[in-house]
Amino acid sequence: MKKFKPQGYKSRRERRAGTSYRHIKIKAGESRHHLRPRSRGGSDHPDNISIVPKVHHDHWHALFSNHSPETICAIINEKWLDRRFKFTCERLNI
Ligand SMILES: [Zn+2]
Repeated sequence: MKKFKPQGYKSRRERRAGTSYRHIKIKAGESRHHLRPRSRGGSDHPDNISIVPKVHHDHWHALFSNHSPETICAIINEKWLDRRFKFTCERLNI
């Protein structure tokens, strides 16, 4: 028996369409990464999602967790980079 739906009713999936990353198709071996982590106020909007190889995604979070770009730069400079160089990040006013 089909469920009754009032006129104009939209399922949760329909309401979230266009505002959620979950509908973004990925291929086997790919993963969805939040550019601005949700733990730092990032949204699930597709503009905040990057499709990356899953193995890279796993390594990114193993190295950098959900740290801020400034902290990621500090980690790279302290632990990974030739001392003759300095890795920097710049916040854009956009
Ligand atoms: Zn991620």
